[in-house]
Amino acid sequence: MLISRLYRVLLLAGLLPALPAEACRVTDFFEVALPSPTAGRSAIAVALEAAYPGLQVNEDAGTVVMPSGAVLPLGDDAGRPAPKRLADTTIAEQFAQLYPLDFDPAHREAPWFDPGRARNEAFFRALWFETERAAAASLVAVTYSGAELRTRFSVTSAHCVAAQLQAAFDAIARHGDGMDVYFRSVGGGFNWRKIAGTDRLSTHSFGIAVDLNTALGGYWRWAGAREGAVGPFGNSYPEELVREMERHGFIWGGKWHHFDGMHFE
Ligand SMILES: [Zn+2]
Repeated sequence: MLISRLYRVLLLAGLLPALPAEACRVTDFFEVALPSPTAGRSAIAVALEAAYPGLQVNEDAGTVVMPSGAVLPLGDDAGRPAPKRLADTTIAEQFAQLYPLDFDPAHREAPWFDPGRARNEAFFRALWFETERAAAASLVAVTYSGAELRTRFSVTSAHCVAAQLQAAFDAIARHGDGMDVYFRSVGGGFNWRKIAGTDRLSTHSFGIAVDLNTALGGYWRWAGAREGAVGPFGNSYPEELVREMERHGFIWGGKWHHFDGMHFE
């Protein structure tokens, strides 16, 4: 936490390194043609290998070989109830719910429909960082440059996250000055911490998540909602902003039953 605070100060002081211009080629994920599962290979194996170059799924052995060489159990998805799955997620169970790309708030009304919110922590640590210090060493500043303000976020440069986020922000800014309000009073990016009310690491820990305007986004816990019985929420984030983030590879917490409307990861 101390390191996270130090990096917040560096960001606000403009002292975090900027994104190197040549770092990454930006991917439009709406244009990526996913290979269809071939004989004997599950959609999970195909999707994981397409998403993370250097990762290999060995379905016969039931293992995932990470780009670092670490070997993790793939596990299975035996259809456990969502609360159990959330507490102790296997890699396979991360795919139990498919994230919808259409902008229909009705999807999230189904209790426990939280696609992308169940995460295998060992997988995330092996893919991103084992320690706060290692995550902090990878940080760069990404800037939203709107009509009337500039807002900086600290995110990791690993796996092209910063380049993708910069491209998303630039695309959002091109939608006009109406977008600026979502970049005021932001929650920020990197922060090595647990998710409120849980023992699970937040994806902010790895520098792969950002919280935009905290007041406009809404968060189910702050709203006093009961877990598993969260009602509608007053989303005020526009579809064009969400789509630009999704196009660049970030999912939105506003599509979760346990909504986190400021959160993209
Ligand atoms: Zn967040």
